[in-house]
Amino acid sequence: MTQPIDQPVTQPAEQLLILSGKGGTGKTTVASAFIALSKTPAFADCDVDAPNLHISTHATAIPTISDFHGMPRAHIDSSLCISCGLCQQSCRFDAISESCGAYSVDRIACEGCTVCQLVCPVEAIEMTPEVTGCTIVHADAQQIFSTARLKAGAGNSGKLVSQVKRNLLAGIEGLELSTTSNQSFAVIDGSPGIGCPVIASLAAIDMVLVVSEPTISGVSDLERVLAIIGRFNLPAAVCVNKADLDEEQAVQVVSLCEANRIPFVGSIPYNHAMAKAISEGQVPRSEELEMIYERTVQILFR
Ligand code: SF4
Ligand code: SF4
Repeated sequence: MTQPIDQPVTQPAEQLLILSGKGGTGKTTVASAFIALSKTPAFADCDVDAPNLHISTHATAIPTISDFHGMPRAHIDSSLCISCGLCQQSCRFDAISESCGAYSVDRIACEGCTVCQLVCPVEAIEMTPEVTGCTIVHADAQQIFSTARLKAGAGNSGKLVSQVKRNLLAGIEGLELSTTSNQSFAVIDGSPGIGCPVIASLAAIDMVLVVSEPTISGVSDLERVLAIIGRFNLPAAVCVNKADLDEEQAVQVVSLCEANRIPFVGSIPYNHAMAKAISEGQVPRSEELEMIYERTVQILFR
C-alpha cells in the first residue's frame, strides 16, 4: 500500500476526481472506497443533480446548508405593465405568456437573457434571483465534506459544482491535522456524462480516475470522457467495474486505454457481497478495489 491506511494525514494537497462518462458505472462506489482507504479528511460530491456519496460516506460535522442562486429570471410587475406585448414578442424562449391582458413569465422557461427588460417601455420588468439549489458543507477542524443539491428542472449545475469545489478548498484550509504523510489527497466524486458539471469539476484537478463499464455504450462514453480530459491535459487512469458481465467489452476498455496511452489500473468483477454492502449504505471493500487504489495513488504522486 502506498499510503498506510491507519495513519493520520496532512492537509490534502492534491485533488483526485472520479468520473464515469455515464451514470450507473459504480463511480460513487469507487469514490467511497477511496475515501475509506485513504482516510482522507477532505472529500466532495460534485454530482449535484443526484448526489449520493453521503449515503456510504458519513460526515462527522453538523452540515451548514446555504441557498444557491442561479441565473436571475425575469419578473413582471403587473402594477407597472401597460400590456404592450413587446416583451412577449421579443422573448425567443417563449417564456412570456398573456392571459386576459396580463403578462407573466414562466421562470423555468426563462433563460435570463434580459431582452424583455431592455424592450419594456415602462421598466415593468426586473431580473430577480432564483434559488436553484443548495450547498451542504460538513466542516470542522478534522474533516470537510462538500456537497450540493440542485432543484429539479434548475440549470446552472456547472456553477453549483464550482461552488462545491470552492467550499471544499475553504474547508481544507480550515483543517487542523497532524502531518505524518506527504501523500494526502482530496477525493471528489464527479458528475456522470460530459456536460457543464463535468467541465466545472475538472478545474484545478491533479488527476482523473474514470470508472467504466463493459458495455457498448460504456466504451463509447469512456471514449468521449477521455477526449474531454485530454483537452485539459490532465493525468488520467481507467478502471472497469463489473468487468465479468461482458469480457469482450472489458477487453475493449483496455484496448481503448492502450490506444490513448492511458494507464489501465484494474478490473472489478461483479461481486454480490459488494452490491449488498452498497445497497445497505456501507463502504464496499474488495482486493480489486485496494489494488486499483494503490495503482491510482502511485500515478497521482509519481
Ligand atoms: S429574460 Fe430573456 S428568456 Fe427570460 S423572459 Fe425575458 S426575454 Fe425571455
Ligand atoms: S414590455 Fe413591459 S409593459 Fe409591455 S407587456 Fe411586457 S412587461 Fe408589460
